[in-house]
Amino acid sequence: MEWLRSAACAGEDPELFFPVGTAGPALRDLAAAKQVCACCTVARECLSYALGLGPTAGVWGGVPEEERTDLLRRSRPRHDVGRRSPQ
Ligand code: SF4
Repeated sequence: MEWLRSAACAGEDPELFFPVGTAGPALRDLAAAKQVCACCTVARECLSYALGLGPTAGVWGGVPEEERTDLLRRSRPRHDVGRRSPQ
């Protein structure tokens, strides 16, 4: 994880990246975290790492947990529903 050396969040309050709740201070923390990530030169690596971990808490690569969950769900291969295999 060499990319961590260039993380823009180094020195920031870690709690910004793990907002608790979905209103008030949590929304402010989330916005602040996204602002830091928007200036981060390793955001792509950070997001890729988090997606590789699977479901994880917090903001990674500027993307909060719920949005990453959606990304992971959409990236799963779809099964052919109703298609029969040859027997
Ligand atoms: S993208 Fe955000 S959470 Fe990831 S290393 Fe950069 S500043 Fe930190």
